[in-house]
Amino acid sequence: MPHPPIYLDNHATTPLDPLVLEAMMPYFTDRFGNPGSTHLYGWEAGAGVEQAREQIAQILGASPQEIIFTSGATEANNLAIKGVAEAYLAEGRHFITVVTEHSAVLAPLQYLEGFGFSVTYLPVDGNGLLDPQDLISAIRSDTVLVSVMAANNEIGVIQDLKTIGQICKERGVLFHTDAAQGIGKIPLDVNPMGIDLLSFTAHKCHGPKGIGGLYVRSRNPRVKLAPQIYGGGQEQALRSGTLAPPQIVGMAKALTLAVENQTTEQAQIRELRERLWSQIATLPGIYLNGHPYQRLAGNLNVSFAGVDGATLLAALRQEVALSSGSACSSTSLKPSHVLKSIGRSDQLALASLRIGISRFNTQAEIDRVATLITDTVTCRYQ
Ligand SMILES: *Cc1c(COP(=O)(O)O)cnc(C)c1O
Repeated sequence: MPHPPIYLDNHATTPLDPLVLEAMMPYFTDRFGNPGSTHLYGWEAGAGVEQAREQIAQILGASPQEIIFTSGATEANNLAIKGVAEAYLAEGRHFITVVTEHSAVLAPLQYLEGFGFSVTYLPVDGNGLLDPQDLISAIRSDTVLVSVMAANNEIGVIQDLKTIGQICKERGVLFHTDAAQGIGKIPLDVNPMGIDLLSFTAHKCHGPKGIGGLYVRSRNPRVKLAPQIYGGGQEQALRSGTLAPPQIVGMAKALTLAVENQTTEQAQIRELRERLWSQIATLPGIYLNGHPYQRLAGNLNVSFAGVDGATLLAALRQEVALSSGSACSSTSLKPSHVLKSIGRSDQLALASLRIGISRFNTQAEIDRVATLITDTVTCRYQ
C-alpha cells in the first residue's frame, strides 16, 4: 500500500483536532435539541451555544451579543458587505478593498457594482502589503466600508490591521476584515485594532467545516446590518435558521485550543516553515512569494522560473497534497490574481506552490517534501 500523501494544504482546510470532535460528540447524541426550544433538550443545546459564543467573543475582545453565527466565512463576508450596503444606502455607496482579497469578498462587491455601488480596489506592493497612504487617498465622503483581509490565503501576508483601523476610525468609515486565515494564528483584538466587522471560520483552524461567524460592533459605533437570510429570527434576526450546536461548540473548542497555545504552537510551525525554506531556498529559479516575515508562520509560497506549473504539481501530487496558486483556480489553470498582483508573470504564477503547515505536520514530513520538491525541480525539469 502506498502512503497517503503528506497533507500540506492547510490553507484550503485543516484536519479536525480529535479534542474538537470529542467536544462536539454530545451535541450529536444526548444534547440534540433545537436551541430555540423551551424544554430541557433546547436548554442543553442552547447552553452549549451560548458558552461557545462567550468563548469566541472573549478571543476577539468582543461581547457575546456581537457574535453572529453563520455557515462560514463566505457567508459572514456576504452578510458584512451586502448587509452594510443595504443598511447604509442613505449614507453612501462607495466601498474600498484590496486586489488580493478572497473571492468571498470580491464577488459580493462585484455583485454590488452591478447595482450601481462603486468599489475601489487598492493595489499591494511586491510583498503583498497595502500602503496605508493609498487607503487614505481612496476614502471619499460617500465611502461606507473598507474591507481588508487579516491574512492572505495564498501568500500568508498579514496586513497592518491596527493602522488600517485607525485610518477608518478617524474618518468615520466602517472597517471589515476577513480573518478566515488569521483567527487562532495571529493576535486579533477588535477594540485596539478598530475593527467593526470581522469574519471567521472554524475549518482553517482544526474545527469543523460549515460553521463560522461575524463579529458585529454594537457600540462606538453601533454597526447597522440588513439581514441576508430571513426566517425564524435567530441570531438577532440577522441570520435566521436553526443553529448547529455541534458545529458551534466544535468551533469554540478549536479556536480556544489555537489561542491558548498560540505563541508556542506558531513558533513550532514557523520553525518547520524555516526548515523547509532553508532546504529549497537555493534551488535554481526559485522566487519567494509574499513578505519574507510579515506572514503566517505556516505559510510558504514559492514559484519556479522556467518550470511548467501543471507538470510540477502532477509530479508531486502522489506524495504531497498542496495546491498551486489559489485553490479555487487550481483546476482552471488561471494564474492566481494574488500572485499577479505582486508582479509575478503568468508563468511564475502558474509554476507556484502554496504550502500550508499545521500543528499536525512533522519534521520528517517537511524533510521528505523538501527532497521531493528539490528532485522534481532540479532533476526532471531543468
Ligand atoms: C477559506 C476562506 C474563506 C471562506 O471560508 P468558508 O468558511 O470556507 O466559507 C474566506 N476568506 C478567506 C481568506 C479564506 O481563506
